[in-house]
Order: sequence, then structure tokens, then C-alpha cells
Amino acid sequence: MCGIVGYKGKNNSIPVLLNGLKSLEYRGYDSAGIAFVKNKKVKIIKNIGRVSILESSIDSNEFSNIGIAHTRWATHGKVNKVNAHPHRVGKITLVHNGIIENYDEIKNKLSSYKLKSTTDTEILCAYIDYLYSKNHNMLEVLNKLKDDIKGSYALVIINDDEIDSLYAIRKNSPLIVASNDNEFYLASDMPALIKYTNKYMLLDNDEIVKISDNIYIYDKSLKEINKKILTFEGTSNDAMKCGYEHFMLKEIHEEPKVINNILSYYVTDNHFNENMPNFKNYKEIYFVGCGSAAYTADIAKKVFEKYVNVKCEVFLASEYRYQKHFYTKKTLVIFISQSGETADTLEALRITKNDGIDTLALVNVVGSSIAREADKTLYIKAGPEIAVATTKAFVAQYMLLTLIALKMSNNEKYLCDYKSLEKRLEKVFKIDYIKYANKIYKSNNAFFIGRQIDYGLCEEGSLKLKEISYINSSAFASGELKHGTISLIENKTPVISIITDEDISLKTISNIKEVHTRGAYSLFITTLDIDGDFYDDKIKVDNINFILNPILVVSVLQLLAYNVAKLKGEDIDKPRNLAKSVTVE
Ligand code: GLU
Repeated sequence: MCGIVGYKGKNNSIPVLLNGLKSLEYRGYDSAGIAFVKNKKVKIIKNIGRVSILESSIDSNEFSNIGIAHTRWATHGKVNKVNAHPHRVGKITLVHNGIIENYDEIKNKLSSYKLKSTTDTEILCAYIDYLYSKNHNMLEVLNKLKDDIKGSYALVIINDDEIDSLYAIRKNSPLIVASNDNEFYLASDMPALIKYTNKYMLLDNDEIVKISDNIYIYDKSLKEINKKILTFEGTSNDAMKCGYEHFMLKEIHEEPKVINNILSYYVTDNHFNENMPNFKNYKEIYFVGCGSAAYTADIAKKVFEKYVNVKCEVFLASEYRYQKHFYTKKTLVIFISQSGETADTLEALRITKNDGIDTLALVNVVGSSIAREADKTLYIKAGPEIAVATTKAFVAQYMLLTLIALKMSNNEKYLCDYKSLEKRLEKVFKIDYIKYANKIYKSNNAFFIGRQIDYGLCEEGSLKLKEISYINSSAFASGELKHGTISLIENKTPVISIITDEDISLKTISNIKEVHTRGAYSLFITTLDIDGDFYDDKIKVDNINFILNPILVVSVLQLLAYNVAKLKGEDIDKPRNLAKSVTVE
């Protein structure tokens, strides 16, 4: 995870680096640091905590036109100032995103070095210095490095002997390069640079970049290559809260826009066919993802089963990659990842491809590893998502999956219902969530119950609540409660129940009664006209149809979690210990 920025140009690098880091903080935020060149010497400033703390510790008069910066999500070594990046050993100063798996083996070659930190990164830094001491050619050093290092890395490097240049290399961690009027940039993701340019180049694994008077990119044989220049579709508003108190709230309110983007791109402009596999070829569909991406698949699976009448299975990528597989050439495996860099999902994709099975990716970030490696890719077109808790990307993933299901089943008559989503979501946004959040935020535990498609919604609602409010919350297929968990129900324990599926509603109502009679605070979320004495509060949203009701309910669940976390005073966009774009196992 972590965010990296590098800059060389005629202007002051420091504000560019700090601005870039701020828009990459969603990638990691336990410590931050910067290195810049002043009077031909490298100066490093780093701190525990957010970029704002780093910013306040830098003299506003500092000027340097070349520098590198990092916001960390620690993997190796505690969160402290010494372990924060940049690291510096000998003549090498660098920032690193990723994990060096064989750092112990590398360390054994470095007995003459005295290391200060407990990170894998400092060992890597020392190793580059060691290689450079034997061969004063940075391109060859980096080319050798890639053969010796196992793991993932995006590195931006300053070498004291070439103090006016930046070097960079990546493998399995993202890094992009951009330029604008003799100013040169490197970053983990485009929102860091959108203020300066919307043109960028993607680096492939093990390509090496040198930035001096221009950007030079080299392939594995150190031959200089030209890269395709891409245009980023986002705007600078994507990296700003635009009047909303949190990115999460802003991104929930962007859901109608995202839905319309998907409809106009895939349905009106008919971009489906160019990237869709031929579904007639498949007898079963596997979905693979992590966290919310797996839950979106749990919900969509019910749509596929009902309308496409195809066998579906959902797998957690972290389990899938180590298990025995029973797929055949008639299986299509769909990989779902917002960032397109999720390490477990990426590895699961590689295993599947290696077995010769057809793969389709649903990804948000254009040009990300999963997008590039899958046989076919459909972009979910949600735009940059900054809050760590996913909201609009979840809705976009689900939307696109339902469109695929309709396409596969030639059931396009449902398409007209999608157009009403915008105004129905606007109604969801107007609900007064604080009054429900008030009855939840002081609890230590909460439960979400529902059956079938509603159980998938419970999983997502529960994850959303726990990740940002830190309330210990669990989702249950409601029939399961009495097999153990009902013993945890105490007076006022919140139980949030969901019913959108009429066919199974009476069964779920019985389960809600069971918890309500045992003293639970029963909050009932439904699309149906059901009343009774089994709930304390009810949130009723519009009843569109089986396929689209989950979108309205998930938005309710997101806003409920948001308001609970807000009442608790939590750091909603950057929950503790988390980061977006989980590029580690
Ligand atoms: N493995 C490195 C560390 O723990 C880099 C982590 C990151 O990508 O932020 O410092």
C-alpha cells in the first residue's frame, strides 16, 4: 500500500510532493516523509502520523526542485520515525511501496552495513548502495536488483552521485510517470498529479525510469522505449471533498452519477460487446474478490442464479489462491477489485490464467495490474474513490454485474428501471439517519440479519459499520442466529434486519421477532410494505425490483454506518490500521 510521489522540475518540489501525498493518504497514513535536494545534498524530514504533521514540520521557505515523498502503511517494522520513509543508506535515498520477501537473505550480504530501522525497505536501500559501490551504473544496478529481490516494489530513488536525477522501478506495486512543460512527476496514482496534468504513462513490471532533463524509460534489456500516453478521466474535484465533511459522504452522493456513467457507457454507447466474453461458452461462473468485492458478488450471485440460471460460486481471493480448484474450460472466473492491485486477487487471477481458464476483471483503476492481466476487463467507471471504506465503487461493481446478468439472459426489459435509480437514491439520501445512529453508536456489538440476497447486503452493511465505527458487528443468515449467536442478544443490542426478497420475508420476520422479544433494538430496513410489532424503527425505501433494490439498501447501510461513526467521532475516511488498495497478502 503506501503512497509515493516524486518530482523534478523548475518549481519548488515541496508543495507538489505534499499535495500529492495528501491525495494519496488513502493508501496509508501511519507516517510520512520527504527527501529533497538542497545545495547538492539530500535533506530528509519524516514524522509519525498524517501528512499535515509532516507539512507543519517543514520550513515554508524551503525550496528544492527535486524530491521524493512517501506516506506509509507499515508492513515490516513498527510505526515510528526511524522506520518511516524515505530511507537513506550510503549514497542512496529512496521511498518504497511494497514488501521485500527475501530481505533476510539480502541482509546476509550486507554485513558491513549498520542499519538503523527494522524495515525491509532499508535493507533494500543498503543493497542498492552495495550494488552501486561495485558498479557505478544505476541502470545496470536496478536491472540486477530485479533479479535478486523477491516481493513487490515501487521505488523512487535519489543517488548522491547523480543528485539532479530521479530513478524509479516497479514490480507488482503501482507507479505512473507524467510530464508537463519540463516538469516531471512520479506517483502511485493519478489523483496525486491531477492538479498538474491529466496525461500519464503506466509502467510495466521491471521497467526502469530515469528522470534528468527528460523522462527516459528502459525495458528489461535496458533498451530505451516509448510508452503510450494515457489520459486520466478524473478531475481535480475527485481529490477534493467539495463541501462534504468527508470523502465517504461525497462518494455516497456520487452514486447516482456513477450509475449514469455506467449506463451511458455500457448501455447507450454499447461498449459491452467489445470487452465481453462469449457467455454461451460457460456453464458456471466463479466470482473472486476480497472484502466488499466478495460481498458484491454474493449479492450479484443471486441475480445470476435467478435470471441467467447459471451455477455460481463466490470465493475470497485469499482462500481461493491456496485451495484445490475444480474449474473447467466451461468456467468463467470474474475477478473484482476496485484498485486492480489487490494482491490476493491478482495472485488468484494469475493462478487461474496459468491453468488456462478464461478470466474477466471488473476494475475501477484504469491500467492497473488486474485490468492488464485478465483476458477481458470491464471498467466500473466509478472515478477515484478516496475514502478507505468503499461505497460508490461497490455500487458500480454490483451495477455492472447486474448488467452482465441481464445481457447473458437477454432480459433487457429490466433496463428501463435503472433510469429511476437516480431519483430513488436522492430519497435515500434525505433520510434522517442520526435518529437511528443514536440508538447504535454506544453499543459494543451489532448484528445484521437477512436471508438469501438480503444476507449479502447484511455482510456489506456489517463490514461497513465495523470498519469505520469499530463496533464489533457480524452478519448472519437470519436462520443461523438461533444456532449460537442469539445468546449474545442483550437489552438494546442493535439488530439490523433486511428484507427486500418477498419470497422469504415471513421466515426473516420470525427471526426478527426472536431477537426483538429478547430485548434487541430492532432496526428494520425494507423495500416492502410490511408492518408489525417486531421492530423499533423501520427504514422503508422504494421497491424497484429484485435486481435493483440492493442498490437502495446498500446506500442506506453506508449512510447508517457513516452516521454511527460520525457520532462516535471516528476518523471516517481513514479508519485505524486500514488502507485502501491492499497490495500486500
Ligand atoms: N514494507 C515497507 C515498510 O513497511 C513499505 C510499506 C509500504 O508500502 O508503505 O516500510
